[in-house]
Amino acid sequence: MSRRSKVINRVLEANRLALWFCTVVLVVLCFGLVASAEPMKALIINGQMNASHDWNVSSPALKQMLEQTGLFKVDFATSPPKGSGNMEGFEPNFAAYDVVVLDYDGEYWSEQTKSAFVEYVENGGGVVVYHSADNAFPDWKEFNEIIGLGGWGGRDEKAGPYIRWRDGKIVRDMSAGRGGSHPPQHVYQVIVRDKEHPITKDLPERWMHDRDELYSELRGPAENLTVLATAYADPNKRGTGEHEPVLFTVNYGKGRVFHTVFGHAKRPPLLSMECVGFIVTLQRGAEWAASGNVTQKVPGDFPTATEVSRRKGYKLSLDELLAEVKNYDFGQSRLGLTAVSDFVRGAYGKPAELKEIEKSFLEVLRSDATYAYKQFICRELSVIGTEQSVPVLAEMLAVPEFSDMARYALERMSGEAVDEALRAALPGAKGKIKVGIINSLGEHRDSKAVSAMSELIYDSNDTIASAAVSALGKVADQRAIEALAKAKDKTTGKLKLLVLDAYLRCADRLVAQGDKAKALAIYRELSGQDQPKLIRIAAMRGMVNASSGTKK
Ligand code: ZN
Repeated sequence: MSRRSKVINRVLEANRLALWFCTVVLVVLCFGLVASAEPMKALIINGQMNASHDWNVSSPALKQMLEQTGLFKVDFATSPPKGSGNMEGFEPNFAAYDVVVLDYDGEYWSEQTKSAFVEYVENGGGVVVYHSADNAFPDWKEFNEIIGLGGWGGRDEKAGPYIRWRDGKIVRDMSAGRGGSHPPQHVYQVIVRDKEHPITKDLPERWMHDRDELYSELRGPAENLTVLATAYADPNKRGTGEHEPVLFTVNYGKGRVFHTVFGHAKRPPLLSMECVGFIVTLQRGAEWAASGNVTQKVPGDFPTATEVSRRKGYKLSLDELLAEVKNYDFGQSRLGLTAVSDFVRGAYGKPAELKEIEKSFLEVLRSDATYAYKQFICRELSVIGTEQSVPVLAEMLAVPEFSDMARYALERMSGEAVDEALRAALPGAKGKIKVGIINSLGEHRDSKAVSAMSELIYDSNDTIASAAVSALGKVADQRAIEALAKAKDKTTGKLKLLVLDAYLRCADRLVAQGDKAKALAIYRELSGQDQPKLIRIAAMRGMVNASSGTKK
């Protein structure tokens, strides 16, 4: 090795060391950053809800709002559906979370799960009570102590007082009457009553909440309850004439509970959940419940005393939507699917976005998703599918269970790759699958499939032979016509009638294409006395139409 190259080597060695050192420093720094920014853990409880609301709509939105803060990593604990008789198995690990968000009103949890929840809160766990979750469990004492106030479910004065804001202070109103009502949805003003609480600190004193229910006449134990904000239920809007508590906290053991009555959600558009006032108070309330602090700044788009403010275009990502419908089955609510379809429609005309959507859909098809869900995805792909879908669909084409849905998509897609896949699948296919593929090739008027289909006219399976004949009648190119012409003399019975019919359709197509001479030759051939009566009549009509120049 020369002296010069030794020097170069030494320099390189030094560089390598320096690079290695920098990498180590970077890795250490990155880990340090990640460790310090570790998000808090939130658990949204859902799975059952009363008929006026849909957790499939609200829960994903809540998840997104919480994760948007960068403070939370959100999981769902979804109970078995109502009436499944499986509630014993519903055992969320509350203790593993900093905050539990309730989006549930349904069957009672098992004694074990109830105890675990109460223990979690007693030991300092955070809780967010969201809108209709306060309708739940009217007969569970500790739950009602935790949520402070609840509504409906037969609640009355036995549940506890109404909490009223009168003359600048809280009044516990023990008068008899129902617990829970609301006037029709409308826009209303919220008044902050506790300006020092971390959740409401720095919020404007008055702000407009977008169209929502105004929960009224809630009743409950209301112990250790702090009212953060009220809203006046205007009698002109069929309200109670009271300042109803709309945001409040409850201290239960060492636990912190934030209760928001906002956010009615049944189906989009969700004006109440798009309200920046709802979003921000939920985000701040969840942080407080989880940690006792609020580090979030009040954003500039917060509503004012006179103007509502909406996060327009607020929508779930496709991945979140798909996660919501991953267990979809026939007979269940199709709301989630509709949301996915709407998402796709929103991307029409944006090829790059559509390509990404298509990619996500293909992941679903490759997964062990339900049959119903895959069928839905195939229907979507039939509209937006491109060549990138072809290999996945082609593979499904050969699987009896999935063949029909894959073919549904392929048949409605276009492109040489689609036809190639269909043609390639033809020789190996059997029975119904083969018939389906033949039909699709016919729909695609695939000239390159003509020779294969011409042979299938003579298949021992009648259904396959008939399908091949019909498909050739649709392709109707020169070679298809020749194959049918030959077949009409080689077939008998029903199949022959089908061949004649397909041959006739070829003539119709020739007329439509302007090749009247060739069409007339076929019509003439089919109008002979030796032809079946129906074919003869149709052929003569074709001849007249072709001669008079009217298109059939
Ligand atoms: Zn509601």
